[in-house]
Amino acid sequence: MKYLQKKGYEVIPVNPGMAGKEILGAKCYASLAEVPGPIDMVDIFRSSDAALEVTKDAIQRKDEKNIRVVWMQLGVRNEEARELCEANGVQVVMDRCPKIEFSRLFGELGWHGFNSGVISSKRRQVGRAPGAGSSQSAPTFSGLETRCVHSGTPPDANTGARAFPIYQTSGYVFEDVDDAASLFNLQSFGNIYGRLSNPTVAALEERICTLEGGRGATCTASGHAAQLVALFTLMGPGDHFVASKNLYGGSFNQFKKMQEKFGWTCTHVDVDDPSAVREALSHPRCKLLWVESLANPGGVISDIEMLSGLTKEAGVPLAVDNTMATPALCQPGAFGADLVVHSTTKFLSGNGTSLGGCVVDMGSFDWSSVPADKFPSLTQPEPGYHGLTFWESFGDLAFTTHAHTVGLRDLGPTMAPMNAFLTLLGTETLALRMDRHVENASKVATFLEAQPEVAWVSYAGLESSSYYTRAQKYLPRGAGSVFTFGLKGGYKAGVDFVENLHLVSHVANLGDSRSLALHPASTTHRQLSDEQRTAAGAGDDVIRLSIGLETAEDIISDMKHAFSKIVQV
Ligand code: PLP
Repeated sequence: MKYLQKKGYEVIPVNPGMAGKEILGAKCYASLAEVPGPIDMVDIFRSSDAALEVTKDAIQRKDEKNIRVVWMQLGVRNEEARELCEANGVQVVMDRCPKIEFSRLFGELGWHGFNSGVISSKRRQVGRAPGAGSSQSAPTFSGLETRCVHSGTPPDANTGARAFPIYQTSGYVFEDVDDAASLFNLQSFGNIYGRLSNPTVAALEERICTLEGGRGATCTASGHAAQLVALFTLMGPGDHFVASKNLYGGSFNQFKKMQEKFGWTCTHVDVDDPSAVREALSHPRCKLLWVESLANPGGVISDIEMLSGLTKEAGVPLAVDNTMATPALCQPGAFGADLVVHSTTKFLSGNGTSLGGCVVDMGSFDWSSVPADKFPSLTQPEPGYHGLTFWESFGDLAFTTHAHTVGLRDLGPTMAPMNAFLTLLGTETLALRMDRHVENASKVATFLEAQPEVAWVSYAGLESSSYYTRAQKYLPRGAGSVFTFGLKGGYKAGVDFVENLHLVSHVANLGDSRSLALHPASTTHRQLSDEQRTAAGAGDDVIRLSIGLETAEDIISDMKHAFSKIVQV
């Protein structure tokens, strides 16, 4: 009530027990009938059962009071009441908080990267709907390329700057002590300190969130930091999670260290074996399943839809690392993923300049549908915020709010505003770039398949790949541009190949505009034994490629030259 009053709304309390008294300066009435004058919206702050009675009363008085909207608060759901409103031409909203929705939709600048769905090139004041005050009615825009360019970055409200500004600040002023208190209590939304939130970072969060079709997103200093924040929100000491066997090597290392240092345990399973996954998920302390949509580096594609069926059965969320595919090629949420995680360092930034990560909450997992002690961070009172319960206060934005106000606040792996700006620039061209990455990767993979020096090529975009059919379902625009191939000449041939490349860079990174190559056995995986290297898909013969945006024929001629330099032993 206080928040809405501050935004200029008149809020009239109705409560028979308080009738005649004042609440926050407004006179309280015993019933709707007694409220003088018209009522735009009836906001129901009662139990779900009581909502029907209030709705019936509102419908009965809709013409007399000009009632246009019945709004049921977060946690209040009543299908009969909804049907009644719809049948009577009254707009209805259920299980939502006006404060949160106001902040999300009306540009409460730079808080937590919630998906507003708003795309507009009109300058607008915070708190006003896009186009408010203008006579033009605005169409809605939803194309992938449009979202890449516009989502999260309207013209700057203060200056009209069309490029989104870099808010290079650590702190933010409070209007007064009351304002500060309500921010610290999470009763109102706004920036407190740069470790928790920043407007430029929030713009990127909203963009990635919108591209994934999610509800809220949290950006972090790196992809690994995103993984840490995601797990920190869901796991406690002694908890367990299940992860795919086909993961980026760095994720294996991180999960192992978490086991040693945090007391979280992890089982790696073959995620193409449903019975193995089901059995692993049955661990009594299991909190989630973690897979990669397109696994780095082997061109392996997870059957997200099948896995989401298994996680639903087990009552745990499905987290999908979508770094290699990007939302331009695959949207895991559309197939049932609950959390989508990114290293933005790769294709999202696209230029090899900025580390970063992101966790998108699709808003699909009902954290309250499982016992309250399963995800206590979200469903039990948080002492750091005067006993506030995130699920109760923020509904399907609980995860994202917790990730900022506890995860980032207490762990500190916050994305720098400059990196958010550079990544925003990168995402503008994401759809275009991914199409070209795919086109070039397909040409290079086809070329490699025909080379006498090459033993095998593992690219899901090739018809010869066992993942080809799955690629058509999950990555219809193409199977990305990171893949591996094997050299018949083994270790020595691998070293000769990477050392004789002149256009393709010898780099331990992926998703750059430049083509990159790596011989894992002599670099990233050199400390491992032969058996460990083979198990990790980094055998002596393996070359990992990340095909960039150069002219495909130039990439191919660079490789032809490198092949000619392989010394036969
Ligand atoms: N996930 C995948 C699939 C990756 O390839 C990487 C890095 O290569 C990461 C996560 C970790 O990201 P970062 O290097 O930004 O910490």
